[in-house]
Amino acid sequence: MLIDGFGRRINYIRVSVTERCNFRCQYCMPEKPFSWVPKENLLSFEELFLFLKVAIDEGVDKIRITGGEPLLRADLDKFIKMINDYKSGLDIAITTNGYLLKGTAKRLKDAGLKRLNISLDSLDAKTAKLIAQKDVLANVLEGIEEALSVGLKIKINMVPLKGINDKDIISLLEYSKKRGMQIRFIEYMENIHANKKIKGMYGKEIIDEIRKKYIVKKIGREGSSPAFMYELEDGYKFGIIDPHKHDFCESCNRIRLTAEGHLIPCLYFDEALSIAEAVKKGDIEAASEVLREVLKNKPEKNRWDENPPEQELSSRAFYQTGG
Ligand code: SAM
Ligand code: SF4
Repeated sequence: MLIDGFGRRINYIRVSVTERCNFRCQYCMPEKPFSWVPKENLLSFEELFLFLKVAIDEGVDKIRITGGEPLLRADLDKFIKMINDYKSGLDIAITTNGYLLKGTAKRLKDAGLKRLNISLDSLDAKTAKLIAQKDVLANVLEGIEEALSVGLKIKINMVPLKGINDKDIISLLEYSKKRGMQIRFIEYMENIHANKKIKGMYGKEIIDEIRKKYIVKKIGREGSSPAFMYELEDGYKFGIIDPHKHDFCESCNRIRLTAEGHLIPCLYFDEALSIAEAVKKGDIEAASEVLREVLKNKPEKNRWDENPPEQELSSRAFYQTGG
């Protein structure tokens, strides 16, 4: 069993399979063009899988594949099948922008995928384009319909931004509810890569917006989920992911692995250790050693809850860590 220095049980790993992305979301990507890590630095699926086996053997039972945009990486279904075949009952999910889902959803389902989180920031094509800096809405909506039709369970992720898509909070809530999908509103996490002009919304502001139309009941945190849950009068549940709240990190159960093999104890901080050398050599003992060292160094909490000044903001890039 994996326990960190603060007694938290770690059973969840988020694996970013690429930092590349077909969107340029203003809250995630740098404004200026930049060069990607060379493809030869990426770990192969076999190398990532070698590390995952170490983690699974130690009790990890929840694996989320993310990116960048994970569906850009060829043969992702084969990677899912590898993991799925290793141990039954693992909770394997993907977080995607949904743009490439159409035509791939069934393959992913057949490989053993059960759940998807899809990022959707607006149902208005112009607003979606403003945020992703590309005309994306139609493809994403078609991808969602296809994924639902093959039986994949979907959660929607929205990052509300003041003056940009705050007007879309209710329509996205209603869109998700109608299709039986849970929506989670994510507080914008300030970082040095994002567009400096954007301003996020705190959970309380998001709930105030929803209360303009609905009666909302507080439920609370469920297990180690990062979402604080709420309920509408008809029983529909939705969540707020609120890293600015002081108790957000108390039940943190996760670590992150990047496509280059950096094992990251906390989304906020720069600290990471590499498993690349170990998995390239096939050295399970060394990979396991790095895993234990990372757990020992996992910080107690992020610094978003302190609202640090701009010059001390997180320099972690979401497109590299996978969010
Ligand atoms: N490309 C995929 C996607 O967009 O779903 C997966 C990677 S993305 C980095 C994972 C999640 O992080 C998305 O739901 C995205 O909205 C969220 N995200 C990215 N930057 C963020 C930020 N600065 N604050 C809050 N959430 C962010
Ligand atoms: Fe790409 Fe996802 Fe980042 Fe948007 S949030 S730029 S879709 S990695």
